[in-house]
Amino acid sequence: MFRKLLSVPPLLPCAFRHFSICELPPELTQLQQTCRAFVNSQLKPIAAELDRESRFPKETIEQLADLGMMRVTVDPEYPGGSGQGMLALSLIVEELSRGCGSTGSIVSIHNCLYANLLDRVGSGEQKDRFFRKYSCGTLGAFALSEADAGSDVAALSTRAVEDGDGFVLNGTKAWVTSALQAKSGIIFATVNPELKYKGITAFLVDFEERRGLR
Ligand SMILES: Cc1cc2nc3c(=O)[nH]c(=O)nc-3n(C[C@H](O)[C@H](O)[C@H](O)COP(=O)(O)OP(=O)(O)OC[C@H]3O[C@@H](n4cnc5c(N)ncnc54)[C@H](O)[C@@H]3O)c2cc1C
Repeated sequence: MFRKLLSVPPLLPCAFRHFSICELPPELTQLQQTCRAFVNSQLKPIAAELDRESRFPKETIEQLADLGMMRVTVDPEYPGGSGQGMLALSLIVEELSRGCGSTGSIVSIHNCLYANLLDRVGSGEQKDRFFRKYSCGTLGAFALSEADAGSDVAALSTRAVEDGDGFVLNGTKAWVTSALQAKSGIIFATVNPELKYKGITAFLVDFEERRGLR
Protein backbone atom coordinates (compact mmCIF):
# COMPACT_ATOMS: atom_id res chain seq x y z
CA MET A 1 0.00 0.00 0.00
CA PHE A 2 2.76 2.47 0.99
CA ARG A 3 4.78 1.50 -2.05
CA LYS A 4 1.76 2.31 -4.17
CA LEU A 5 1.37 5.76 -2.61
CA LEU A 6 5.05 6.55 -3.01
CA SER A 7 4.89 5.78 -6.67
CA VAL A 8 2.18 8.42 -7.22
CA PRO A 9 3.81 11.53 -8.74
CA PRO A 10 3.55 14.66 -6.55
CA LEU A 11 0.79 17.08 -7.53
CA LEU A 12 2.79 20.21 -6.73
CA PRO A 13 6.24 21.28 -7.88
CA CYS A 14 9.08 20.83 -5.42
CA ALA A 15 9.20 24.49 -4.27
CA PHE A 16 5.58 24.32 -3.06
CA ARG A 17 6.03 21.01 -1.31
CA HIS A 18 8.68 22.53 0.97
CA PHE A 19 6.42 25.39 2.07
CA SER A 20 5.20 25.24 5.66
CA ILE A 21 2.58 27.44 7.32
CA CYS A 22 4.84 27.41 10.40
CA GLU A 23 7.74 29.13 8.65
CA LEU A 24 8.76 32.36 10.35
CA PRO A 25 9.51 35.56 8.44
CA PRO A 26 13.27 36.33 8.34
CA GLU A 27 13.11 39.10 10.98
CA LEU A 28 11.49 36.74 13.50
CA THR A 29 13.95 33.96 12.70
CA GLN A 30 16.72 36.45 13.43
CA LEU A 31 15.09 37.48 16.71
CA GLN A 32 14.73 33.82 17.68
CA GLN A 33 18.39 33.17 16.88
CA THR A 34 19.55 36.25 18.83
CA CYS A 35 17.55 35.14 21.85
CA ARG A 36 18.77 31.54 21.53
CA ALA A 37 22.40 32.66 21.38
CA PHE A 38 21.88 34.84 24.46
CA VAL A 39 20.23 31.99 26.36
CA ASN A 40 22.97 29.51 25.47
CA SER A 41 25.83 31.82 26.37
CA GLN A 42 24.45 33.90 29.26
CA LEU A 43 21.40 32.29 30.84
CA LYS A 44 21.64 28.51 30.62
CA PRO A 45 25.02 28.40 32.40
CA ILE A 46 23.62 30.20 35.47
CA ALA A 47 20.05 28.81 35.53
CA ALA A 48 20.69 26.01 38.02
CA GLU A 49 22.63 28.38 40.28
CA LEU A 50 19.75 30.91 40.23
CA ASP A 51 17.34 28.18 41.33
CA ARG A 52 19.68 26.74 43.97
CA GLU A 53 20.28 30.15 45.54
CA SER A 54 16.69 31.42 44.99
CA ARG A 55 18.31 34.41 43.30
CA PHE A 56 16.33 36.88 41.19
CA PRO A 57 17.90 37.24 37.70
CA LYS A 58 18.39 41.03 38.01
CA GLU A 59 21.44 41.19 35.69
CA THR A 60 19.71 39.03 33.07
CA ILE A 61 16.68 41.36 33.08
CA GLU A 62 19.01 44.34 32.47
CA GLN A 63 20.71 42.50 29.59
CA LEU A 64 17.32 41.64 28.08
CA ALA A 65 16.26 45.29 28.36
CA ASP A 66 19.39 46.23 26.36
CA LEU A 67 18.35 43.68 23.71
CA GLY A 68 14.87 45.29 23.43
CA MET A 69 13.13 42.29 24.99
CA MET A 70 11.45 43.93 27.98
CA ARG A 71 8.93 46.08 26.10
CA VAL A 72 8.47 43.82 23.10
CA THR A 73 4.94 44.87 22.12
CA VAL A 74 5.14 48.46 23.35
CA ASP A 75 4.94 51.41 20.94
CA PRO A 76 8.52 52.44 19.91
CA GLU A 77 7.52 56.00 20.87
CA TYR A 78 8.32 54.96 24.47
CA PRO A 79 11.83 54.13 25.68
CA GLY A 80 12.68 50.48 25.02
CA GLY A 81 9.48 49.88 23.04
CA SER A 82 10.12 47.39 20.21
CA GLY A 83 6.66 47.61 18.59
CA GLN A 84 6.56 43.90 17.79
CA GLY A 85 3.66 41.44 17.92
CA MET A 86 2.67 38.59 20.20
CA LEU A 87 4.43 36.04 17.98
CA ALA A 88 7.76 37.80 18.61
CA LEU A 89 7.04 37.82 22.36
CA SER A 90 6.11 34.11 22.28
CA LEU A 91 9.38 33.25 20.54
CA ILE A 92 11.39 35.17 23.14
CA VAL A 93 9.57 33.55 26.07
CA GLU A 94 9.94 30.10 24.46
CA GLU A 95 13.70 30.54 24.06
CA LEU A 96 14.18 31.95 27.57
CA SER A 97 12.09 29.20 29.15
CA ARG A 98 14.22 26.59 27.40
CA GLY A 99 17.21 27.90 29.35
CA CYS A 100 15.57 29.05 32.58
CA GLY A 101 11.88 28.53 33.41
CA SER A 102 11.70 31.22 36.07
CA THR A 103 13.30 33.89 33.85
CA GLY A 104 10.82 32.91 31.12
CA SER A 105 7.90 33.48 33.54
CA ILE A 106 9.26 36.81 34.79
CA VAL A 107 9.74 38.14 31.25
CA SER A 108 6.42 36.74 30.04
CA ILE A 109 4.34 38.27 32.84
CA HIS A 110 6.10 41.65 32.74
CA ASN A 111 5.79 41.93 28.94
CA CYS A 112 2.39 40.38 28.42
CA LEU A 113 0.38 41.23 31.52
CA TYR A 114 1.95 44.55 32.46
CA ALA A 115 3.69 46.39 29.61
CA ASN A 116 1.41 45.10 26.84
CA LEU A 117 -1.73 45.78 28.88
CA LEU A 118 -0.60 49.31 29.71
CA ASP A 119 0.32 49.93 26.07
CA ARG A 120 -3.02 48.64 24.76
CA VAL A 121 -5.54 50.02 27.23
CA GLY A 122 -3.67 52.66 29.23
CA SER A 123 -4.44 56.32 28.63
CA GLY A 124 -1.81 58.56 27.01
CA GLU A 125 -1.20 60.14 30.40
CA GLN A 126 -0.71 56.75 32.13
CA LYS A 127 1.70 55.53 29.43
CA ASP A 128 3.69 58.76 29.51
CA ARG A 129 3.95 58.56 33.26
CA PHE A 130 4.86 54.89 33.70
CA PHE A 131 6.86 54.16 30.53
CA ARG A 132 8.96 57.30 30.94
CA LYS A 133 9.40 57.40 34.71
CA TYR A 134 10.60 53.79 34.84
CA SER A 135 13.27 52.40 32.53
CA CYS A 136 12.43 49.44 30.27
CA GLY A 137 14.45 47.17 32.59
CA THR A 138 12.23 48.09 35.55
CA LEU A 139 9.66 45.39 36.19
CA GLY A 140 5.91 45.76 36.48
CA ALA A 141 3.58 43.29 38.23
CA PHE A 142 0.14 41.86 37.59
CA ALA A 143 -1.77 41.18 40.81
CA LEU A 144 -4.98 39.27 40.17
CA SER A 145 -4.81 35.94 42.03
CA GLU A 146 -5.67 35.48 45.70
CA ALA A 147 -5.35 32.46 48.02
CA ASP A 148 -9.09 31.75 47.75
CA ALA A 149 -9.52 33.01 44.19
CA GLY A 150 -7.05 31.33 41.83
CA SER A 151 -8.74 30.12 38.66
CA ASP A 152 -12.05 31.53 39.91
CA VAL A 153 -10.94 35.16 39.84
CA ALA A 154 -14.51 36.48 40.06
CA ALA A 155 -14.36 35.39 43.72
CA LEU A 156 -11.54 37.82 44.55
CA SER A 157 -12.04 39.74 47.79
CA THR A 158 -9.65 42.72 47.51
CA ARG A 159 -11.86 45.80 47.93
CA ALA A 160 -11.51 49.20 46.28
CA VAL A 161 -13.26 51.98 48.17
CA GLU A 162 -13.50 55.50 46.79
CA ASP A 163 -11.70 58.04 48.95
CA GLY A 164 -11.60 61.65 47.81
CA ASP A 165 -10.22 61.74 44.27
CA GLY A 166 -8.74 58.24 44.52
CA PHE A 167 -9.36 54.74 45.86
CA VAL A 168 -8.13 52.79 48.89
CA LEU A 169 -7.31 49.17 48.04
CA ASN A 170 -7.51 46.60 50.81
CA GLY A 171 -6.70 42.92 50.41
CA THR A 172 -4.02 40.24 50.01
CA LYS A 173 -2.72 38.92 46.71
CA ALA A 174 -0.86 35.65 46.06
CA TRP A 175 1.60 34.27 43.48
CA VAL A 176 2.39 37.74 42.13
CA THR A 177 5.48 37.31 39.95
CA SER A 178 8.20 39.95 40.64
CA ALA A 179 6.05 41.49 43.42
CA LEU A 180 9.15 42.38 45.45
CA GLN A 181 11.14 43.77 42.50
CA ALA A 182 8.40 45.62 40.60
CA LYS A 183 8.09 49.39 40.88
CA SER A 184 4.54 49.50 39.60
CA GLY A 185 1.73 47.10 38.89
CA ILE A 186 -1.81 46.44 37.80
CA ILE A 187 -3.89 45.39 40.79
CA PHE A 188 -7.38 43.93 40.49
CA ALA A 189 -10.00 44.75 43.11
CA THR A 190 -13.77 44.88 43.33
CA VAL A 191 -15.67 48.11 43.75
CA ASN A 192 -18.80 46.10 44.61
CA PRO A 193 -18.70 42.35 45.42
CA GLU A 194 -22.43 42.01 44.66
CA LEU A 195 -21.68 42.78 41.02
CA LYS A 196 -19.38 39.68 40.91
CA TYR A 197 -16.99 39.86 37.90
CA LYS A 198 -18.65 43.07 36.66
CA GLY A 199 -17.46 44.86 39.80
CA ILE A 200 -13.78 44.02 39.19
CA THR A 201 -11.60 46.96 38.22
CA ALA A 202 -7.90 47.14 37.30
CA PHE A 203 -5.88 49.81 39.12
CA LEU A 204 -2.53 50.99 37.83
CA VAL A 205 -0.45 51.59 40.95
CA ASP A 206 2.92 53.31 41.39
CA PHE A 207 4.49 51.25 44.19
CA GLU A 208 7.01 53.99 45.00
CA GLU A 209 4.27 56.46 45.78
CA ARG A 210 1.86 54.24 47.65
CA ARG A 211 1.88 53.72 51.40
CA GLY A 212 0.73 50.55 53.14
CA LEU A 213 2.10 48.12 50.55
CA ARG A 214 3.64 45.09 52.23
C1 LIG B 1 4.70 30.44 37.87
C2 LIG B 1 3.42 31.13 38.24
C3 LIG B 1 3.39 32.50 38.17
C4 LIG B 1 2.21 33.17 38.51
N1 LIG B 1 2.20 34.55 38.45
C5 LIG B 1 1.06 35.20 38.75
C6 LIG B 1 1.04 36.64 38.68
O1 LIG B 1 2.03 37.30 38.36
N2 LIG B 1 -0.11 37.26 39.01
C7 LIG B 1 -1.24 36.57 39.39
O2 LIG B 1 -2.24 37.22 39.65
N3 LIG B 1 -1.25 35.20 39.47
C8 LIG B 1 -0.12 34.52 39.16
N4 LIG B 1 -0.11 33.14 39.23
C9 LIG B 1 -1.32 32.43 39.68
C10 LIG B 1 -2.03 31.68 38.52
O3 LIG B 1 -2.26 32.56 37.47
C11 LIG B 1 -3.36 31.04 38.90
O4 LIG B 1 -4.34 31.97 39.22
C12 LIG B 1 -3.27 30.15 40.02
O5 LIG B 1 -2.12 29.35 40.02
C13 LIG B 1 -4.51 29.21 39.95
O6 LIG B 1 -5.03 29.19 41.15
P1 LIG B 1 -4.84 27.92 42.12
O7 LIG B 1 -3.42 27.49 42.12
O8 LIG B 1 -5.48 28.36 43.39
O9 LIG B 1 -5.61 26.77 41.43
P2 LIG B 1 -7.14 26.47 41.58
O10 LIG B 1 -7.93 27.59 41.07
O11 LIG B 1 -7.41 25.99 42.98
O12 LIG B 1 -7.26 25.23 40.62
C14 LIG B 1 -6.76 23.96 40.99
C15 LIG B 1 -7.04 22.99 39.88
O13 LIG B 1 -8.45 22.90 39.63
C16 LIG B 1 -8.71 23.15 38.25
N5 LIG B 1 -9.96 23.94 38.14
C17 LIG B 1 -10.19 25.17 38.64
N6 LIG B 1 -11.44 25.57 38.36
C18 LIG B 1 -12.00 24.57 37.64
C19 LIG B 1 -13.30 24.39 37.05
N7 LIG B 1 -14.24 25.31 37.13
N8 LIG B 1 -13.51 23.24 36.38
C20 LIG B 1 -12.58 22.30 36.29
N9 LIG B 1 -11.33 22.42 36.83
C21 LIG B 1 -11.05 23.52 37.50
C22 LIG B 1 -7.52 23.96 37.74
O14 LIG B 1 -7.32 23.75 36.34
C23 LIG B 1 -6.39 23.37 38.55
O15 LIG B 1 -5.88 22.20 37.95
C24 LIG B 1 1.05 32.44 38.92
C25 LIG B 1 1.11 31.06 38.97
C26 LIG B 1 2.27 30.40 38.64
C27 LIG B 1 2.28 28.90 38.73
